[in-house]
Amino acid sequence: MPNLLYDTLFGRHTNSDAPFLFRPGTQELTYRRFLAQSAQFAHALEEVGVQKGDRVAVQIPKSAEALALYAACAAKGAIFLPLNTAYTTSEVTYFVEDSGATLLVVDPERAEALQPLARSSGAQLLTLGASGEGSLPARAADKPEQYQPVDRSADDLAAFLYTSGTTGRSKGAMLTQGNLLSNAQTLVDLWRFSRDDVLLHALPIFHTHGLFVATNVMLLAGGAMILLPGFDSDAMIRNLPNATAMMGVPTFYTRLLDDPRFDRDLVAGMRLFVSGSAPLLSATHETFEARTGHRILERYGMTETNMNTSNPYDGDRRAGTVGLPLPEVELQICDPDTGAVLPSGAVGVIEVRGPNVFKGYWNMPEKTAEELRDTGFFITGDLGQLSDDGYLTIVGRSKDLIISGGYNIYPKEVEQVLDRLPGVLESAVIGAPHPDFGEGVVAVLVPKPGVEIDLDAIWAGLRDALAKYKQPKVIEVTSALPRNTMGKVQKNLLRARFDGAFTG
Ligand code: ATP
Ligand code: MG
Repeated sequence: MPNLLYDTLFGRHTNSDAPFLFRPGTQELTYRRFLAQSAQFAHALEEVGVQKGDRVAVQIPKSAEALALYAACAAKGAIFLPLNTAYTTSEVTYFVEDSGATLLVVDPERAEALQPLARSSGAQLLTLGASGEGSLPARAADKPEQYQPVDRSADDLAAFLYTSGTTGRSKGAMLTQGNLLSNAQTLVDLWRFSRDDVLLHALPIFHTHGLFVATNVMLLAGGAMILLPGFDSDAMIRNLPNATAMMGVPTFYTRLLDDPRFDRDLVAGMRLFVSGSAPLLSATHETFEARTGHRILERYGMTETNMNTSNPYDGDRRAGTVGLPLPEVELQICDPDTGAVLPSGAVGVIEVRGPNVFKGYWNMPEKTAEELRDTGFFITGDLGQLSDDGYLTIVGRSKDLIISGGYNIYPKEVEQVLDRLPGVLESAVIGAPHPDFGEGVVAVLVPKPGVEIDLDAIWAGLRDALAKYKQPKVIEVTSALPRNTMGKVQKNLLRARFDGAFTG
């Protein structure tokens, strides 16, 4: 029986002795062994009663087992729901209850704290522990190493992925098999992946970038991944010489550039560096190219749509832009108030249509209706601008737009000015409630290491570069910006901090 996702990404490697995973300190894992384990997991899921369409929540460290559970859910037609390993018991409780998961797979250390949740929600609890009644590996060990996947096709739900929660509470994006596969073939072609590639994988796999971009692309290409538990400069430096490609968030690149060992020789075997999930500063682009001779390829995606755009493999990788729409993806820039489609050059809300666009938010019909137009366009909530030749520039998020005295202020424009001023490493600009103007501009600056920022020079630089209404009214110097696991600046935390800046 056909199962689109399973057959395309997993099933065809069943008899392959090619390496799938390199995990430092452990033996390499071939596709054959990986799929044997996935099949055993699928039998174990069946034994505990998991049915087609059931949600299987998985909060375990990044590992072959976590990926085997992804494969097992695909084979079973269950909905894979990976959860951030940093989530606390109360956060896991929210996601399990919200999603109605019937099975929760966790690390043995978490099991005790989650027993009450298991009792109250009725979800079964399995652990990755070696033994005991609730041990998934123990249950799976005696099972056959083959599993006949259930019938599933493009429109069937395959995963619930919760958004990063950068602008509010995380939302459960419902993704179909077709959604998950729509980008994969395009990206293999566009980024020239083959079975000879070795991807250095340090991204989390509870997020779209590490799971549905990086992992799906490598599975489809039949290449191997060096699976690191997370970003760590030492581990990256040790493993880069064995890799051909890497996908990361901007902070990976800035942290690598902070390390003097990161140089041209170290990356001699690399052919591709991809960045996404948050804006890559032009300065990072330039420094990276000067240091390594490689130009980072920046791309743009989101939980709800996987990937939307990519800079070209050959040709102009334009700094400050996220490149061109993927072949099957349509983009339009719309007026935030009227929804009218705007011409190139104008700033508006980015809308996306294509086979990559999700089916809606779980349990949030109103939010889904607000953001998914009847025409099939998804209103991303990002603001952007298309050039005449089709490159997309992200200007910020609509929720971050500052309206002061009736003027629209794009924080990114102010941040770009600040980032070029002497001594500034990075900045974040937000709006805080203001009694006269509605909102007043607040800037938070992080100095370069060992540098003391001369605020007079900053004020002078701002006056030179920006119209008065765009100039910050308050500047704070701080040691680091608040960021989440994906390296995104958490502006909601900054807004809360400066809520009373102008109103006392
Ligand atoms: P939430 O939707 O819960 O507020 P989130 O939007 O941060 O969180 P994700 O789906 O992980 O959750 O992130 C997608 C967002 O990340 C995009 O909407 C965009 O704002 C941002 N993003 C992704 N790639 C880039 C990029 N290359 N440059 C700038 N921003 C990017
Ligand atoms: Mg979002």
